[in-house]
Amino acid sequence: MRQPLIAGNWKMNGTRSGAESLIEGVLNGAKGLVKTEVAVCPPFPFLAIGERLLGGSPVRLGAQNVCTEAGGAYTGEVSAAMLGEFGCHYVICGHSERREYYGETDEIVAKKLAIVIENGMRPILCVGETLEQREQGETEAVIARQIDAIIDQNGIASFASLEIAYEPVWAIGTGKTATPEQAQEVHNFIRRRIDGHDQAIGAKVRILYGGSMKPGNAGELLAQADIDGGLIGGASLAAEDFLAICQAGN
Ligand code: 13P
Repeated sequence: MRQPLIAGNWKMNGTRSGAESLIEGVLNGAKGLVKTEVAVCPPFPFLAIGERLLGGSPVRLGAQNVCTEAGGAYTGEVSAAMLGEFGCHYVICGHSERREYYGETDEIVAKKLAIVIENGMRPILCVGETLEQREQGETEAVIARQIDAIIDQNGIASFASLEIAYEPVWAIGTGKTATPEQAQEVHNFIRRRIDGHDQAIGAKVRILYGGSMKPGNAGELLAQADIDGGLIGGASLAAEDFLAICQAGN
C-alpha cells in the first residue's frame, strides 16, 4: 500500500511571521492524521523556520528548487547539501513554472533529481502537459518524453527514490481541475510507463496530483486507484484548507 502524501508548495508567497503561523497551524492540525503523510515546501528563507518548528515531528519539510551543481561560483543558487543541512526531506524538481519561466529542460531536471538523491533527500518530480498539448492530443507523448528523459539519464532505479507529481499546466492556479477520470488516466499511464521497466518500482512509486486541488475536490481525486496524494499550491497557504485536503486523504 502506498501511503498518501499531501505536500504544500507555497511558491513565492508568505512572510516570515506568516510562515511561522502557517507551519504551526499545519503541525497542530496534522496531529490528528493517522494515514496521510504531510509536507510543507516554503520559500528558501523560511526553511530555517520549518526546521526549527517541525524538527522531531512527522510533518516533513521540503524545498521548491535546487541547484544542479554541488557548490562553488553559482551566484544566487542553493545547493542540495544546504537543503539537507536545513532539514529538508523533499525537493520539488522540474515544476512547470521552473520549466516555463527559467528554461529548465528535462536534462537539467534529471541533474537536479540526481543531486537531491545523492544528498539523501527525495525529489518530487513534476510532469504535465499544457492546454495546447492536451488539445492537440499530445498529453501522453509529452508525459512519456518527460518520464523517459529521466529513465534514460538517471536509470529506472532512481524512481525508487522519488515521488512524481502530475500537474497539468492548464489546471495550475486556474481553478480548473482535471476530472478524477482525466487525472487517473494520466496517473495510470505514468505508472505503466515505469512498470514497463521495473514492476516493483512501478507498484511502489507515489504519483501525486497537482492543479487546483482544494478541500471540495480532493476526496474524489484521492479516491482514484493511481492517485497517491497531492501537490497543493494556492490551497496550501491557509492551514484550514490544507488540513482539510490532508484529512480527505486520511
Ligand atoms: P494550485 O494548487 O495553486 O493550482 O498549484 C498547483 C501547483 O502548481 C503545485 O505545485
